[in-house]
Amino acid sequence: MTSSVRDRLGRPLGSLRVSVTDRCNMRCSYCMPEAEYEWLPRAQILTFEEITRLVGVFAGLGVAKVRLTGGEPLLRHDLDQLVRMIHANRRVTDQALTTNGVLLAQHAARLKAAGLGRVTVSLDTLRPDRMERFARTARHADVLAGIGAAQGAGFDRLKINTVVVRGFNDDELGDLIEFARARDAEVRFIEYMDVGGATRWSLDRVVSQREVLDRLGHRYGSITAITGDDPHAPAERFALPDGTTFGIIASTTAPFCRACDRSRITADGQWLLCLYAESGVDLREPLRSGASDDALAAVITAGWEGRTDRGAEARLAVPEREPLYRVSGLRADPHREMHTRGG
Ligand code: SF4
Repeated sequence: MTSSVRDRLGRPLGSLRVSVTDRCNMRCSYCMPEAEYEWLPRAQILTFEEITRLVGVFAGLGVAKVRLTGGEPLLRHDLDQLVRMIHANRRVTDQALTTNGVLLAQHAARLKAAGLGRVTVSLDTLRPDRMERFARTARHADVLAGIGAAQGAGFDRLKINTVVVRGFNDDELGDLIEFARARDAEVRFIEYMDVGGATRWSLDRVVSQREVLDRLGHRYGSITAITGDDPHAPAERFALPDGTTFGIIASTTAPFCRACDRSRITADGQWLLCLYAESGVDLREPLRSGASDDALAAVITAGWEGRTDRGAEARLAVPEREPLYRVSGLRADPHREMHTRGG
């Protein structure tokens, strides 16, 4: 069922991304390049019961797709309990998780048993030394083990997300496709975005969708665009001549804001209507001061009905584009960080 709640551009209230923690056990340079971060106060982090209640209110307004994110969501203890609590809501028909995979091997089977439907694992490089330099972690083998465990647990349509950064991993596109193909997974190449947290971003390090297609076409031959997918999905999908599929999320050079039905809740209950939104709607305060479900639904409906956000399109129109925020701007409000708003 598509939600009947529409924003000012006619976009339905659709998928919800729920960040369960702002902490992460990696330091990818497109997201967390600094040495120090401000963390959300623990007392403000939503409990599983609070998250489940909010998800229930969103589901009552027509949201059927929920994705758990972070930070790194598997740093939140007993995440399978939250998955089970959300799974009990029959209106949520698609519950997914985005993880960096470091801890996935030890949790995959329990998450599947709890009702998690799909998993996306971030993997930017097949080379451990590159990951060590780029993401400041030596746990490449654990990520690969996590991908293997997800495959073994039997999740639907395992996806691998790769942020492509010129000079770092742009020579691995074909290798990542081969890696995913061998695991019955689908890789999605993501353009490097100038969002909060990406303080080292520059346009010359972005590898565009056009360039990815050209490079893969050179290696594999003619590439076909796949049509008929969910019009709200962020990735455009393509097929190689042998039928192997992959996706590209071209948020930087070809944004898809006009079809965007996504919103996100931070771990402390700020509801953000766009990845680029300057600020959000505080849902924690009414939640903790006794608001009824109907009152919460009214706040959410009013917020969505006033939405005009087209953040990535607005960025595309900026001449001489630079990072969205400098470090001082991020320190002023940690909610601007991508690891806080769930990527
Ligand atoms: S920039 Fe904002 S409106 Fe555009 S696709 Fe991303 S979240 Fe949606």
